[in-house]
Amino acid sequence: MRILYVDMDGVIVDFIQSAKNSPDYERYINELDKIPDIFLNAPPMKQAIKSVNRIIDSRKYDVYIASTAPWGNIESLSHKRIWIEKYFGDKLKKRLILTHRKDFLIGDFLIDDRTANGAGEFKGELIHFGSNKFPDWNSVLKYLSIK
Ligand SMILES: [Mg+2]
Repeated sequence: MRILYVDMDGVIVDFIQSAKNSPDYERYINELDKIPDIFLNAPPMKQAIKSVNRIIDSRKYDVYIASTAPWGNIESLSHKRIWIEKYFGDKLKKRLILTHRKDFLIGDFLIDDRTANGAGEFKGELIHFGSNKFPDWNSVLKYLSIK
C-alpha cells in the first residue's frame, strides 16, 4: 500500500479561521501560532474530514498525519493530538507525526499547502494543496483516484 502523509494547518485544519475566532487575534497579530488554544479550537477545512475518511476507507493508501508543531506554543503538540482524535476517532490513532523535517519522511505522497519544514524536499510526490493544480479536496481525491 502506498504511504500518504497529510499536513494539518491549511489542509485539514482551518488555522486562519481559528485565529480570527480568537479574542486574542489582534494581540498576537504578528505571531498567530502563539495564540492560546488556537490549535485546540480550530475548525476543520471544508470537505477535509470527509475526504480524508474516504482516502482511508478506500484502503488504497496508508494514511499518516505529518504536521509541524510550533516550538513556541508548547501546548500545540498535545492540542494537535487531541484535534485528530476529536475529528477522526481511532482512525488515525498512533498515526500522528510531528516534525520540522518532513523531508525525513519515507513515503509516496505528501499533501501540504506549503514547502516549509522540509515539505518542498519530500522524496515522494508533493501534492501542493491550494495550488492551481490542487485548489481543493475534490481535485486531490480525483488525482488519487478516490471514488
Ligand atoms: Mg500547512
